Amino acid sequence: MNIEEIFEKIKNKELTICETCDNIFDYVPQKLFCNECKRENRKKEAARHRKYREENREKEAARHRKYRRMAQIKYREQNREKRNARERKWREENREKINAYQRKYRAKKKQEEE
Ligand SMILES: [Zn+2]
Repeated sequence: MNIEEIFEKIKNKELTICETCDNIFDYVPQKLFCNECKRENRKKEAARHRKYREENREKEAARHRKYRRMAQIKYREQNREKRNARERKWREENREKINAYQRKYRAKKKQEEE
């Protein structure tokens, strides 16, 4: 087949030129690339998707780390309140005991100072 014949066939939609590598292949509606380029494109596409997924996975992981950290801080904060409340309650319930202990402690200190 010479070049004129090829061009004629292209005009008649019997053949197509690949848009990337200029390979000539049988005309198929909507088909712009030869099989090799199509395969290459698919590979590139897959690689791009893989990269995107990996990047997103990192972002996701970072986001999860952040949330976990925030939950930890919040939990600690809430627990501090609970602990403080518990200690307050204990002090109220044991005021007599604490006062007695403090009295004893002060007396002991005074004795030591004399
Ligand atoms: Zn091609």
